[in-house]
Amino acid sequence: MSEGPPLENFLAEAKGFLDSNANARGESRFVWGEGSDRVGVLEEKSPDQERAEIDEAKIWKAKEFDAGFGWITGPTEYGGRALPSNFERSYQALAAKYSTPSTTPFGISLGMVAPTILAHGIVDVREQYLESMYRGDVIGCQLFSEPIAGSDLAGIQTRAIRDGDEWRLTGQKVWTSNAQYSDVGEIITRTSPDKPKHKGLTMFLVDMRAPGVEIRPLRQMTGGASFNEVFFEDVRVPDSHRLGDVDEGWTVALTTLMNERAAIGGGGAGVGTMSMTRFLEMARYYGVDGDPLIRQALADVYIRMSVSGYTNQRAMAKIRSGQLPGPEMSIAKLALTQNMQKVAQLVSDILGPRLVADSGDWGAYAFGEFVLGVPGMRVAGGTDEVMRNIVGERVLGLPKEPKPLS
Ligand SMILES: Cc1cc2nc3c(=O)[nH]c(=O)nc-3n(C[C@H](O)[C@H](O)[C@H](O)COP(=O)(O)OP(=O)(O)OC[C@H]3O[C@@H](n4cnc5c(N)ncnc54)[C@H](O)[C@@H]3O)c2cc1C
Repeated sequence: MSEGPPLENFLAEAKGFLDSNANARGESRFVWGEGSDRVGVLEEKSPDQERAEIDEAKIWKAKEFDAGFGWITGPTEYGGRALPSNFERSYQALAAKYSTPSTTPFGISLGMVAPTILAHGIVDVREQYLESMYRGDVIGCQLFSEPIAGSDLAGIQTRAIRDGDEWRLTGQKVWTSNAQYSDVGEIITRTSPDKPKHKGLTMFLVDMRAPGVEIRPLRQMTGGASFNEVFFEDVRVPDSHRLGDVDEGWTVALTTLMNERAAIGGGGAGVGTMSMTRFLEMARYYGVDGDPLIRQALADVYIRMSVSGYTNQRAMAKIRSGQLPGPEMSIAKLALTQNMQKVAQLVSDILGPRLVADSGDWGAYAFGEFVLGVPGMRVAGGTDEVMRNIVGERVLGLPKEPKPLS
């Protein structure tokens, strides 16, 4: 990690970049009934909207990268600036004061796939992908889950068979978020079916446009189709695109999963970005702010959001001090989804039938998208039950869950 410029010089440079390329946001205070009332959890866009937003996001990401703010902590040999993580945090805090395109399309790509390439890819692959991923030119997705393997990820069946300097991949993935616009995918495959299930897996980076890859959208109950089934029929992948050693894919998967829980639990989704004022104003607007049960539920949500905010800060401090995100992230992810569920219950109690029948009221029917999206968040990135097992066994040191007899 380089010494770099003093933080104040760096921030002056960042301010210069943001002033010239984005508009500063005014003082933004939540006012009931003003602005957009969208509070969805999953992406709900038409293909045209999605394309336009990605194009805009890519233009922004490239500008940011070219100005030296796209991968502040990354190694210089792959286009980063090798500055300490407080520079990254300071930049993000400053950038949040400006109106810039959403970088959601890069969430999985940069939150999970790129860190795994950096940790496990060979130099050629890091050179080929990291800079273009952080610049937003290339987007990556995560091809882990299969119809019969989700929580029990080591049970996946997609086969990879060696063929000279290449591998041939055949099988099916499911629930692949963003596959519809991804250029590459991090795919876990079975290479040695005769070995114990955790030991016969190998990870690759696959070209999502290679012959034999077929992507089919899955429509979710909120209306949109942000994830997909992906079929692989004899898809060729060069051996250089292997991440980690042959049959060591489980270790590589753990790198991705830890980063995934950090990305989800770290407040990137849902209630993490919603203010308590919204719920208070909603209760006032519908005249239930004096109802003791609603008041109790409001206080409960406030306490839970505060506690998980502090837990996140503790976990993030661990990451900042150079340690790997660990089981704390399972607590953060679990806390986030529990809070989302509490919020969904609270707004359902306040709104009643307005949640499901559009009364035209600002902020009422719109919450349906949030309430219907919460179950998905309780499953994505490790289900609540699996998170509880991890917290019980690895954080609290409780006896291991008994394995079913086979
Ligand atoms: C919004 C969303 C986005 C997603 N994006 C991606 C993606 O981009 N890439 C990808 O690969 N996957 C993705 N997934 C899939 C996700 O990783 C899986 O859905 C998840 O791992 C659970 O697997 P499953 O659906 O097969 O459920 P199962 O594992 O079959 O679980 C079914 C039920 O059994 C419970 N259960 C399972 N094992 C245990 C246990 N040991 N103890 C107690 N209870 C248990 C679970 O908690 C759950 O309630 C996404 C899912 C969602 C909802």
